Amino acid sequence: MIPYGRQNIEESDIEAVINVLRSDWITQGPVIGQFEAAVAAYCGAKFGIAVNSATSALHSACAALGLGPGDRLWTSPNTFVASANCALYCGASVDFVDIDPRTLNMSIPVLEARLVEAEAAGTLPKIIVPVHFAGQSCDMQAVRVLADRYGFYVIEDASHAIGARYQGDPVGSCCYSDITVFSFHPVKIITTAEGGMTLTNNPELADRLRRLRNHGLTREPDMMRYAPDGPWCYQQIELGYNYRMTDMQAALGLSQLARLDEYVRRRHQLVARYDQLLSGLPITIPWCHPDCYSAYHLYPVRINSGLAGQGRREIYEYMQAAGIGVNVHYIPVHTQPYYQDIGFRKGDFPEAERYYLEALSLPLFPGLGTEEQDSVVDALARALK
Ligand SMILES: *Cc1c(COP(=O)(O)O)cnc(C)c1O
Repeated sequence: MIPYGRQNIEESDIEAVINVLRSDWITQGPVIGQFEAAVAAYCGAKFGIAVNSATSALHSACAALGLGPGDRLWTSPNTFVASANCALYCGASVDFVDIDPRTLNMSIPVLEARLVEAEAAGTLPKIIVPVHFAGQSCDMQAVRVLADRYGFYVIEDASHAIGARYQGDPVGSCCYSDITVFSFHPVKIITTAEGGMTLTNNPELADRLRRLRNHGLTREPDMMRYAPDGPWCYQQIELGYNYRMTDMQAALGLSQLARLDEYVRRRHQLVARYDQLLSGLPITIPWCHPDCYSAYHLYPVRINSGLAGQGRREIYEYMQAAGIGVNVHYIPVHTQPYYQDIGFRKGDFPEAERYYLEALSLPLFPGLGTEEQDSVVDALARALK
């Protein structure tokens, strides 16, 4: 079976993890700080705060920005559920902004129209979470203009997009956002097994993100509410979580980071080959805006699927039977039963729903060989006949 995504682990990664296992610290040691500094430097951001998943990163980002009951967070319906769940963890409400059918990212004109309505109704969001779908950045300059006009915070869900660029700057620089979130799950661009990171240029936010990762504890005398009882003293000054990453994971991440550019280059080579090999088939291949250098986490094609996605379903089943692990990204979040219970309905975000009926992600990962890729293309061509 050729999977749709797969981590790449080399001897140097294994050695890096073993070195930590032989050291004095396997959890909160020196490597976490090195990994954070290296990712922040790569992205051109001031601070990086490593956590145990991107889900934790999204939650702590919302909490650090003060999201709470009565507040609203808007995100894309074409994403993994975590981009929306983070609002609900904070007791806030969530809503979605439909996608642009070409980039499959949040549509800026739709966002603007929704903001005009929300301003009139007094229901503006506190936070917007643009999702860089498949590794391509949203139009962040446009999001920034709207954020300044309507006064919301911006968290970039860049789970797919470490190694990507927007207008030449690395995704994660936080030029246009308050916080950026990365995922290091094995199917993503680089991995720490489970893991994630928040990046920011704001020192107060960085302090708060660090505190929320560790139960809301501080050891800074300046931050303490009353005089410390002694040099052993820590004080809990807000409610935080245990979202810490381990040194073993950070060592894996640091070792992987050295190959990030190579990984993304290889993904680009494979995408260029797919684009060429698939050009004669009756499908729509991914489109990338000229402002963006995608990290190409995914290669989602659109199958003109006929009634209710029947065509796509048949092709999915054909490919799976042929040993090709195609996948579907994403079931629109608002159509999940939990979100239906909250009051969302099918039909609420038609572009995301139409895309979902046609979507099929083909295998794409650095270790995918060209012969394997040819077999994916052959199987797809047969399936479409
Ligand atoms: C994978 C993913 C997440 C969650 O990442 P974890 O590290 O598994 O928590 C969040 N958002 C998007 C868009 C993702 O693809």
